[in-house]
Amino acid sequence: MTRPRTHTTASHRKTGRVNTAGLRPCNLPFRIFETEARTILSPVSGFLAEAGFTHSLTPARNCTFGCSYCYVPTMRVQGGLQPEDWRHWGEFTTFKTNAAELLQRALRPSQRIYCSPLTDPYQPAEAQTELMPQILRAVARNPPQVFVIQTRDPLILRDIALIKQAGARVSFSITTDREEIRRIFEPHCAPIEERWQAVAALRGGGIPVYVTLAPLVPCDPEALMRRALETTSEPIVADPFHVRAVKRSGATTREPALAICQRHGLLDWLDPAFQTATLLRMAHLAQAAGRPFGYGPAGFSLLTGIRPGTLR
Ligand code: SF4
Repeated sequence: MTRPRTHTTASHRKTGRVNTAGLRPCNLPFRIFETEARTILSPVSGFLAEAGFTHSLTPARNCTFGCSYCYVPTMRVQGGLQPEDWRHWGEFTTFKTNAAELLQRALRPSQRIYCSPLTDPYQPAEAQTELMPQILRAVARNPPQVFVIQTRDPLILRDIALIKQAGARVSFSITTDREEIRRIFEPHCAPIEERWQAVAALRGGGIPVYVTLAPLVPCDPEALMRRALETTSEPIVADPFHVRAVKRSGATTREPALAICQRHGLLDWLDPAFQTATLLRMAHLAQAAGRPFGYGPAGFSLLTGIRPGTLR
């Protein structure tokens, strides 16, 4: 059963500085709901399976970061989404309150778990809900082979000690080096500089931290890659906008991001040839620095530490 929490809360990121047409106003509050899930680990297929993961863990449905390009609402019924999730993406989130309890029973040493493909586990409401500390304690008690946390928010620093105990890895999303571009495509997310500082703090805290430059929104690819090389010591992952010209079915870039590209003359970033050229420029820098770099499923397989073709 889904029930609303007794209060609403405003995102700490909603500054109101950008109110791009096609996106909701930045100063709207979002709603938090709670539900009890039947299961918490989902066997993966497609992109994540190709990358070497066996399961995904999604602590909440819907994500109040509400990024313009988010592929999740385009998945419709997949992943346990409800129609209200894709119709009102980013306007509310529904936490699975029994996630840690379910996880405790479901964890196995052979699992390679990605948390999460369907929400950011450190979306702003996690500050009050505190589901991730419970999940990380469960992981620490019964560790899987690999546990990757995918996030874009410095709130993760709250749990640094627990992440270390759990032996988890962090994959931190940074999509551009241009703050004015960040504000257009992902206005509710943390500023770029705060995110780099969080990556540095995680590394300083002894956490294996990767940067995922994904999806690449308009940026200076060399500047972005140089910063990634300086700030981290792990392999670097990138991915362009998913476009139908390349990916005929399944999850793809959400309509508001396409509209933004159109409106701001940024359509190159949706062009497969331009995307490949950009990735190759980045690969060249990584290679010169002697650092592993990849994109697509092969890139995300770097997060598992297992090279494609060697999976069991
Ligand atoms: S943080 Fe991730 S899951 Fe959340 S809206 Fe943005 S792209 Fe989607």
